[in-house]
Amino acid sequence: MELYNAIIRKAEESFGSSAARRYPYNPANAWRDSGSAELVMLRDAAFELGGDSEPSANFSCVTTDESLVPCDETVVIGPDLREIRGSVPFARLVFVRTEEVKGADETDTEPVFRAIQDIDFVKYHVFPEGYMVRTSSESFKEQVRVSSAAVRNGISFERVGNDYIRCYKKNPLVKAVRVVFVTARDADYKALAKDAKDVRDISLTLSKILEGMPTDCSACTLKPICDEVEGMKELHFGQKK
Ligand code: SF4
Repeated sequence: MELYNAIIRKAEESFGSSAARRYPYNPANAWRDSGSAELVMLRDAAFELGGDSEPSANFSCVTTDESLVPCDETVVIGPDLREIRGSVPFARLVFVRTEEVKGADETDTEPVFRAIQDIDFVKYHVFPEGYMVRTSSESFKEQVRVSSAAVRNGISFERVGNDYIRCYKKNPLVKAVRVVFVTARDADYKALAKDAKDVRDISLTLSKILEGMPTDCSACTLKPICDEVEGMKELHFGQKK
């Protein structure tokens, strides 16, 4: 699956000048997951990621290219949770490597779409304790309110990332996961939000293709997306009739 490869390659260019801190996946060090949505009241909050009009962005991409996601890891660009004192800009990106997804034959694209959706929905089922996530599918934002108790108890992006990776890896198709947290002031959040929009457009195009639209590129409103996305046209032309 190569649909998102260009976005995965490009995202790094938006991270700014901070050195990346990398943490290999360690499930034993995952931050506690409360198992369901938890309310962190403003009076109990230490700070917000992406709060107070700070920019934020969020997206996840699936690939089968091992060179793009070679291992399970959490990457932190900018201050970690214990170093943050007030609202900061925020992006959380997830790059997931899966097995090649196959349908009944190579023209059956529905399983590809279902796998992408299943992997994208994981984000709604991760509940790190004291770490309240609010997402907006319209603006591609993700804001997080972090409780003072969680900060006192040692919450870190590494430990939250371990929780995310653990949840993604429940899907048997998933081979490796990279979770990237960005809080650096000089990262390009506008560009990351544009990447998030492109990811959404690819998913919408896939869903339209699955509805059985004709393969006439010259009259197709989705052409600008297909012209940019590696493998999209091949996917439509191979689509089962
Ligand atoms: S491959 Fe052509 S017809 Fe199919 S969605 Fe893309 S532009 Fe439209």
